[in-house]
Amino acid sequence: AYHEEIYRLTIEDGLTQIPNKRALVEYLDREFARARRYGRPLTVLMMDIDHFKNVNDEYGHLMGDYVLREMAKLAKARSRHEEMFARYGGEEFCCVMPETDVAGGVVFAENFRKLVEDHHFEFEGNRVRITISIGVAQTDETMTRAEAAVLVADENLYRAKRAGRNRVVS
Ligand code: GH3
Ligand code: MG
Ligand code: MG
Repeated sequence: AYHEEIYRLTIEDGLTQIPNKRALVEYLDREFARARRYGRPLTVLMMDIDHFKNVNDEYGHLMGDYVLREMAKLAKARSRHEEMFARYGGEEFCCVMPETDVAGGVVFAENFRKLVEDHHFEFEGNRVRITISIGVAQTDETMTRAEAAVLVADENLYRAKRAGRNRVVS
């Protein structure tokens, strides 16, 4: 039990209790290899909370931490068993979706974006509106490493930010 607990600590994010970047990268590498071997689709979503710095600045870091935990709760409720939704770092989350093409990834991303936009975030009497931007990318034959898909998803996320935030770009 002790060793299991130690292992859990290495793959789980302490604040949100969802998988951390390390667990995500391991999962992505495995799924990338499988998708390539069997010619199956695999899609990656990179998401980032919009203007999150303002939340911390206006309401304090405890509010910011609450928002991150709440985001993770929404993610847990929405994601199925066969995908991984992880905290990639800071206020960035990443979802790896095996057996899903870019169109399926966009549908999921759009649903999640709306879920967050409509969610009631309230902490110690203060209510904040939270939106997220999401970049979606499907792996393809030209990619030799899983990180290539993360890179494309990241570029699309950046485009979503530049186009005005609170949107999905694929
Ligand atoms: P953008 O819409 O461009 O993404 O703007 P932004 O303000 O979200 O982006 P920026 O990268 O400037 O700020 C990210 C902020 O996230 C800054 C940092 O303090 C905050 N942050 C990162 N990790 C945590 C955390 O664990 N807790 C809290 N409360 N804040 C965090
Ligand atoms: Mg960020
Ligand atoms: Mg941000």
